[in-house]
Amino acid sequence: MPTTPQRPPKIAVLPGDGIGHEVLEQGLRVLAAVAPDVTYEHFDFGAERYLRDGTTLPDSALERFRTEFDCIYLGALGDPRVPSNVHAKDILLGSRFKLDLYINFRPVRLLDARYCPLKYKRPEDIDFVVFRENTEGLYTGIGGQFKRDTPDEIAIEQEINTRKGVERIIRAAFEWADTHGKTKMCMSDKANAMRHGHELWQRVYKLVAAEYPRIQASHLYVDVLTMRMVQAPEEFEVIVTNNLFGDIVTDLGAAIQGGIGLAASGNLHPGRVGLYEPVHGSAPDIAGKGIANPFAAILTAGMMLGQLGRPEDERRIGDAVGACLLAGHVTRELGGTLRTAEAGTAVLDALSAQA
Ligand code: ATP
Repeated sequence: MPTTPQRPPKIAVLPGDGIGHEVLEQGLRVLAAVAPDVTYEHFDFGAERYLRDGTTLPDSALERFRTEFDCIYLGALGDPRVPSNVHAKDILLGSRFKLDLYINFRPVRLLDARYCPLKYKRPEDIDFVVFRENTEGLYTGIGGQFKRDTPDEIAIEQEINTRKGVERIIRAAFEWADTHGKTKMCMSDKANAMRHGHELWQRVYKLVAAEYPRIQASHLYVDVLTMRMVQAPEEFEVIVTNNLFGDIVTDLGAAIQGGIGLAASGNLHPGRVGLYEPVHGSAPDIAGKGIANPFAAILTAGMMLGQLGRPEDERRIGDAVGACLLAGHVTRELGGTLRTAEAGTAVLDALSAQA
């Protein structure tokens, strides 16, 4: 999956809305310390720009992302002044679909047991990766409404599962597992109730799994998966699932790893520019107060470096955030007293202490 550019990496920075600006600022400080050769260009796509001139994400910008950049580093999107959040949909879903970023890559790793809501679970018990299909399923908007606002109203939402789409996400998960020394794969669907699309998942999963005999391939219906993630998260190394179930189980993953302020994600298509973002949203309730937790954005920066072929830099950033958690150098929602910028400084201090 990692692309290794010949020239210094070039990152498109989209702080977006709300706390996106605050957390990305800290992520960029950490990137500057760990990878000083990386270059950046800032883009102002977000609610402010949309309200000013109606721009969401022009095709010309997408084309530049595709051809000139190695990564897109996104803060968060969403603003109460745009109730429909049309700008957020255009920018986020637009890049996912138009850049065909079919992998939503979400590591779930507990860095410090004290932040885990599950009893007796240690960091070694919660360390897995979810591959969520990112371009199909129930999130394509295909469907319609009939007899709207009448007692006979009908609303249909169609789930899209293509052979190509199912196969490539399953293959990506196995490929990643194989290259990262993992031996356990779990595919999750609801084939007992959704007999057409999810039966396709079952068939394709078996076919691809046969190509990776070293990896133990299991299957769980999604209701059982969510139970096992709470009861025995140590059972999992790699999970692959569809768009809707992936959305849900990755938020559950964020909760068991210590909260949404610690969860990083990548939207990927091997060999192409990827879009990396903290899992949390723009959090309008705390935006501008300087109290947002920047760790998810900082871990996301680490993930970008890992995907750029610098796993040692990714490990250093993860360790630095882990050291901050251990020392209690955390923001308020994790029980600490640090403000956003102070939490960024704490990570920089922890990085210096590693040297
Ligand atoms: P959406 O997810 O729809 O974009 P949102 O920003 O309100 O919207 P979440 O990101 O799920 O949703 O956040 C829910 C709440 O969690 C926020 O309102 C905020 O109070 C808190 N929160 C989210 N991210 C952080 C963070 N980085 N630091 C501290 N608190 C956060």
